[in-house]
Amino acid sequence: ILLGGSLIILAIAFTAGYFLAGRAMIPINQSFARQREFVADASHELRTPISVLLASVDVVQTDEDNRFSAFSSQVLTDMKDEIRKMSRIVADLLTLARIDANVVELLRETFDSRIVAGHVIRSLQSLANAKDIRLQLDCDQAGEIQADRSRISQLLLILIDNAIKYTPNHGTVNVKLEIVYDHNSKLKITVRDNGIGIDQEHKAMIFERFYRVDKIRSREFGGTGLGLSIARWIVEAHQGTITVQSELGKGCVFTVMIPVDG
Ligand code: ADP
Repeated sequence: ILLGGSLIILAIAFTAGYFLAGRAMIPINQSFARQREFVADASHELRTPISVLLASVDVVQTDEDNRFSAFSSQVLTDMKDEIRKMSRIVADLLTLARIDANVVELLRETFDSRIVAGHVIRSLQSLANAKDIRLQLDCDQAGEIQADRSRISQLLLILIDNAIKYTPNHGTVNVKLEIVYDHNSKLKITVRDNGIGIDQEHKAMIFERFYRVDKIRSREFGGTGLGLSIARWIVEAHQGTITVQSELGKGCVFTVMIPVDG
């Protein structure tokens, strides 16, 4: 009887504690939700003024009547670079806020991964040219896949943009796409660079939000520390995996495996 009584008291105490703790969590959860909403709203609202700023600088730069000194022209170019960086940060924050709010859904469609990779490579070619980096694409063994086209494009953009950013002038960035068969069809993406590489101690952390190995350097390159966390979300939303192999000073190899039917 004694044992039974103690068990009942324990059960009541446990249940009461559980509900009280649950109630205590409600304001915390609400505050997180409000914070997420604020980030989403703020980044959404910032998009328009940023686009207007960018367009305005464009208008001034392309106005044939302008008689700016070389110094003023340089200031305009620098302004444009900074606005572009701001635009990327805002876009990344908006993506993460949407991910947190669970409002991002994958839009699966059938498309040719070679075409998407080709577009991404072309969009980054001038960045690579500016650093005399050889940007190679090998996608002979890739083909049609079923996945979220714009997210796969965003993933490639993040990985290749990083590879160019963290590779010194005259380096090489190699991008390979292939369909491999391992229980089911998978798209394997390999992005290899011969840049600065990542130290062992930082490797596990680079997929975390706002984590940057070298903050000053990353900021200089326009980095936000958000790219790889978005990349990881895209891969995991597709039930895939992303890994990195690296040796400091020798470069990095990012490998993505994504199940793709079709
Ligand atoms: P960032 O916007 O700073 O590039 P990311 O989330 O994309 O943020 O990357 C996180 C950090 O991982 C970077 O700041 C950089 O230190 C490191 N990193 C990412 N890709 C590479 C790479 N290809 N080579 C060396 N370091 C890299």
